[in-house]
Formats: sequence, structure tokens, C-alpha cells
Amino acid sequence: MKYIILILTTFISIEVKAQRQYTRAEMIGYNVGLNAINAGIARIINKKPNEKIKDVFLDGLWKGAIGGAINYASKELVLQIHESQKPDLLWTSRLINTLGNSVTYNAANNDGIFDYIYFDFGFNRLKFSTKTKFKVQYKIMPFSLLFMIATASDGNLNIKRSLTTLTPYFEAKSNYNSESYSRSNHVLIKNNEFIAHELIHTYSHYEFMVVNTFVHKKRNYNNNEKLNFWKKVNKHIYWDLLNRLVTRSLYSVEGDITPNKYDNFFEYEANFFPID
Ligand SMILES: [Zn+2]
Repeated sequence: MKYIILILTTFISIEVKAQRQYTRAEMIGYNVGLNAINAGIARIINKKPNEKIKDVFLDGLWKGAIGGAINYASKELVLQIHESQKPDLLWTSRLINTLGNSVTYNAANNDGIFDYIYFDFGFNRLKFSTKTKFKVQYKIMPFSLLFMIATASDGNLNIKRSLTTLTPYFEAKSNYNSESYSRSNHVLIKNNEFIAHELIHTYSHYEFMVVNTFVHKKRNYNNNEKLNFWKKVNKHIYWDLLNRLVTRSLYSVEGDITPNKYDNFFEYEANFFPID
């Protein structure tokens, strides 16, 4: 029965993309369905030879759906915080969002749903292991670093806002004369405006990190294993390019330049939660 519900929400997810006015139920369906499909596909790609395709797909599907539901809740919270005009509380929604994405990522990797918590902050990626004993692993994300260097030419890092949103927050320089934006997982804000809208864009970014599991196999190195140079490098680097290519392509498919900007689903979603 739970699989039938999941497959229905998955169809809602696809259906939601086809029209341009969405109810709250449809937005929940989209978030649940997107995470479920991504985790389901990842499980098939990374399945062990003795596992059945149907079994692993359904396993990824329902666990990813839980991640998607938590992700939706985090976006709802952004809306609540926005309406109560308390931006200093945005870190709470970011933590819930981190949990939701971690659940989906764990589902994709066939780990227990709460085994690992992945927390990204700009070019830093922390992996908290809760499985047997508490452990923290650090990796650098080279493309997020490059994007942040690019954004640093438009704005200055605001430490307080970066901490209260748990998102690298650049304040536009006085000579910057374009609009506020989000770029991968950080934001550049002009005159303190539209912070919630840009944050939702970063949440969409995190949501697509799971596609990296389509190409990057999960690797566990033994302590006494002799590593070649490439493996040594990979122990400290998280390649964060595929997710960016996927989100950027989907954004373009939705339309970069349209008469009505909110005809683009990513823009619609970002505006759905923080209503001005
Ligand atoms: Zn936008």
C-alpha cells in the first residue's frame, strides 16, 4: 500500500511540473516525489549484483520520500519565519533541511536513514557519522569554492547573517547594480531584500546533491589500505559538479528569460514559500 501512495505522489511530482498554479498539497507531492525518485534511481544504479531492481527501487523510493517530506517541512518553516519577520531564526529551517537531505542521501547510498548527517557550508562539507561511534569527516567542494570566489567580487561576506542562516551570505557591494541572487549554496543579497526567496533556491540546490550518488560510488577505505594519489585526493574532495550541471540545465529548460519570471518552476517554488 505504501508503494502505491508513493507512486501516486511521484506522478503528482511530474504533474506539478506540467502546470503553473500549485496548491500546497501539490508542492508537498513535488518535494516527496522528487526526493523519492532520485533516491530510487540512485539505488538502482548502485545496487549490488544480488539485489533485485524492483526491491532496491522501492526501498530508495520510500526512504527518499521521508527525506522529501522533511525537506518540505523546512521550506514551510522558511515561510513561517518570513511571515513572522524573524530572519535570525532561519538557521532552524536550515538544520531541518540538512536532516531531510541527509535522509535522502543515505537512502540513495543504501545506508540507514539516519546513519550520516551531511552538512554543507559553502565549500565545506561535513559528514557526521552517528552509526557506531560519533565521527566527523571533512571534505572540500572545489566548485562551490570557485563559485564563492566569483561571488566575492560582487559582495562582502556578512558573518552574522551567515551564521543565523547557516548559509554563506554576501552583502552586495555599493557599486553592485544588479539583483540579489543565489549561486549554488550561497546567497548575495542587496539591501537585505528577498532573503527567504534566495534561501529556497539554495534548498533546491541541496536537494539535487543526491544526483552525485549516480556517478560517485560510495567508498570505504580500510585503515591499512595503500592508496594511490587519486584515492588520497578523493579522501579530501567532494566533487560537486554534476549536481550543479543538473540544476543549471533544469533551470534553463524551465526558461532563463521569460516574460514572466515565475513561469520558471524554480522561481515559482522560491516564491511559493516566502510570499511578500
Ligand atoms: Zn529567484
